[in-house]
Amino acid sequence: MDSVKVGVYPGTFDPVTKGHMDIIERAMQIVDKLIVGVAVNAGKGPLFTLEDRVRLLRDEVAEVSLHDGQGIEVRPFDTLLMHFVQSCDATIIIRGLRAVSDFEYEFQMAGMNRRLDPGVETVFMMASDKYQLIASRLVKEIGILGGDVSHFVSPRVTQELIARFAELHAAGGVGE
Ligand code: ADP
Repeated sequence: MDSVKVGVYPGTFDPVTKGHMDIIERAMQIVDKLIVGVAVNAGKGPLFTLEDRVRLLRDEVAEVSLHDGQGIEVRPFDTLLMHFVQSCDATIIIRGLRAVSDFEYEFQMAGMNRRLDPGVETVFMMASDKYQLIASRLVKEIGILGGDVSHFVSPRVTQELIARFAELHAAGGVGE
């Protein structure tokens, strides 16, 4: 028997979108086990707490589990990505690629990660064209201005976004 091929799909997932879920489903075609790593990423000033981002992803993944969920796990991490990957016994990092704008950063990161551990391969995947343009950042911008985000995120995430924006409005945190 071949050994189990473990992949890590890292990101901020603030919040998880249909684009992320498309990549997760594709990644399951090439690994036996997928660990979705949710980065703390305090520097990005996330809208949702780490706990909320993990919970939302777990709920979404539970739905995918109808076919392949046994092999998907969601874990938070606050270390160097490569240390997290090694602690998961993974040999593959999955990243999604959208337009050329993602390329420069992803190219640099893949190169640096190869230096850190040549035994770990970064694999880039493209989402289905209907999900390619989705970005968590834009979903938040549309949502903050009261736009309809249901094309980009699941009904559950849409509800959570509405609730989070209401909280921020009440706290006077969203005005501009
Ligand atoms: P990060 O802060 O690491 O960029 P994100 O949560 O924004 O985290 O994204 C995680 C990964 O998913 C990245 O590789 C990103 O390029 C990819 N991704 C995000 N949205 C899409 C999409 N719509 N199609 C394809 N890949 C995507």
